[in-house]
Amino acid sequence: MPPAQFVNTYADTLPDLVTAIKPTAVYRPQVQIINQALWHELGLPTAWQDNDTLMGLLFNRDSELTKHSVAQKYGGHQFGQWNPQLGDGRGVLLTELITPDQQRIDLHLKGAGPTPYSRHADGRAVLRSTIREYLASEALHHIGIPTSRALCLISSAEPVYREQQESAALLIRTAPSHLRFGTFEYFYHDRPAGSSPDTAPDKLTQLMNYTLNTHFPEALAADNPHLAMLTSVISTTAQLVAKWQVAGFNHGVMNTDNMSIHGITFDYGPFAFFDDFEPHYICNKSDHQGRYRFSQQPSIGLWNLNALAQAFRPFVDVASLTDALDQYESILITQYHQLMVSRFGLNDVTDSALAMVAMFMELLQNPARDYHHSFRQLCGHSDWQSIKALRAEYVDITLFDQWVAAWESEVEAQQIDFATLQARLSGTNPHTVLRNHHAQAVIEAAQDGDYSLFNAYLSALSDPYNEQSKIERFASAPVAQDKGIALSCSS
Ligand code: AMP
Ligand code: MG
Repeated sequence: MPPAQFVNTYADTLPDLVTAIKPTAVYRPQVQIINQALWHELGLPTAWQDNDTLMGLLFNRDSELTKHSVAQKYGGHQFGQWNPQLGDGRGVLLTELITPDQQRIDLHLKGAGPTPYSRHADGRAVLRSTIREYLASEALHHIGIPTSRALCLISSAEPVYREQQESAALLIRTAPSHLRFGTFEYFYHDRPAGSSPDTAPDKLTQLMNYTLNTHFPEALAADNPHLAMLTSVISTTAQLVAKWQVAGFNHGVMNTDNMSIHGITFDYGPFAFFDDFEPHYICNKSDHQGRYRFSQQPSIGLWNLNALAQAFRPFVDVASLTDALDQYESILITQYHQLMVSRFGLNDVTDSALAMVAMFMELLQNPARDYHHSFRQLCGHSDWQSIKALRAEYVDITLFDQWVAAWESEVEAQQIDFATLQARLSGTNPHTVLRNHHAQAVIEAAQDGDYSLFNAYLSALSDPYNEQSKIERFASAPVAQDKGIALSCSS
């Protein structure tokens, strides 16, 4: 395989939108986890995996990874309020790569030390949040949800202070770019007071041109390339949120600075996969109003796209923006329905299939049942009798009987034989998802220097449909006191 090529198109093309900055060394850094499959896919030299070599690459000023490193400026709507004071406060864009298969990928170092956007904070990330981001991004990737990826986790002996003293860690992550909704919003709103909302500040024009040329070249052929680009972001965002809703994933902090223009899951904070199915669950303890509760994610996705669309006003008339935004809901619902029926082994989204899905969701709610376990329990049966025996687990057995009858007749109507049905169910309902109580156990072991639990959980999460990769401890539903752990934003 040819090696990766290093390029710096963002820093080179948009020098006024970044600040050149080098990572600040930490005390006793140690590479703990490397994503070997991803490392290989990116075409990075294997020799770089050596601890001293990698630390040299990260912390020497003129290495292949730091020669052109920058902090990117952005703003964002946080809990509905516009905040222009954001930017890479603890991360740097090391370099971009052209991978052996010609993908364009950012290498970003999170926890790299202070930058001009740190706002008096320490520029570090704690081990706890770094482990959570690593596990979550890999877990989502392996169940088919677009996301940034984790390439490498580095621990350190450097103390950092949050609610208590913790140790700093660094994460190298990858994404097609680190362009956020808030990047566009910032360069739109950063303008002389009183200027018309339909005029484009120079830096916004530069950013738009760069993004079109670099990331949305197919939009250049459209009558209005900016509209085509925005339409694409609307579509990928709608599909992403639909995937979260089907998978039972709560992002937790859908501020516009945490929304990627590539429609990928991005900037992991106090996220949670469901334990019990609670549609209005709030996983972020700092979210006092429940703005980002699970059931709000679809409408917040649209709210965020509206904020992004504002930055397109100088390039697209308002009626076209509105029309583009109007497509969001139907894209999301279509995707949601398709993926939801596929969790029951079905192909076709019929009214009767959707009624059957609604019955099952009702069964999961009253009383609340473990979301993932309830789906996975549909797998591994040899006949319908065996599936019907699950009724012993349900309180509302009348509804259970109605639901299973509706499912069986839908499977028949869609002409799916039982073996095919079972194969599909095992391929769409993971045996293992990331649970906060297991992540907590992994973190506590890692804080004591033991990464074996991390590796074990990661291997199950990386092969989540294959029964051979299942580890009972990580696959079972949690006991009552371990359910529904909510976390704060502190990381
Ligand atoms: P986040 O909560 O990670 O999405 O970050 C929100 C904003 O706060 C971004 O501009 C971050 O760069 C900044 N930030 C968060 N934590 C730190 C930190 N420890 N040091 C400096 N900046 C930070
Ligand atoms: Mg963020």
